[in-house]
Amino acid sequence: MPAPSESRQHDGAIGLHIVSMTDIEIQGIDSSALARVLDRGIDSGGNPIEPFTDSDGSWPLRCCLVDSQSGDRIAIIAWSPLPWRGAYAETGPIVVHVGHCSGPSVKGRLPPELDAQPMTLRPYGPDHRIAYNKVRHVPGGASLTAHVGELLEDQGIEIVHGRNVTGGCFSFQASRAQRR
Ligand SMILES: [Zn+2]
Repeated sequence: MPAPSESRQHDGAIGLHIVSMTDIEIQGIDSSALARVLDRGIDSGGNPIEPFTDSDGSWPLRCCLVDSQSGDRIAIIAWSPLPWRGAYAETGPIVVHVGHCSGPSVKGRLPPELDAQPMTLRPYGPDHRIAYNKVRHVPGGASLTAHVGELLEDQGIEIVHGRNVTGGCFSFQASRAQRR
């Protein structure tokens, strides 16, 4: 599992236009979908959810995109992050709060510490398959938001996943923001 450092900043330090003119929206997992899964008590893999009290902290929480704190009630659950079905919509492990987490402190963006982490950016095309020739391995210290923005300027990319560089675990999902 990755180990992003704690971030609860509210200053909106990450701009949405660092490189790209494309408005992007970044989220961990959909909070209403997570609430339904937690209420059901069965994860996306059909496994019973087994909450535990975190004794050490530093689990990378996907509900709020920060690390857990010692004493948090959390669970490791199987999750299918893609909004469609198909062969590429695999299910994998994520760590979440089992209480009523309010989500990331800054909606639609990555917390600064997460933004600077090394990550594999995995794009998916409109055909709902991985766009293998556009996968990026971003080193630590760069801006994931900027890289995601560049990828999403390509209309041949619909969604970008941030994936842990070693385990491939789902970290976040990004897409073009809906115009209002
Ligand atoms: Zn949370």
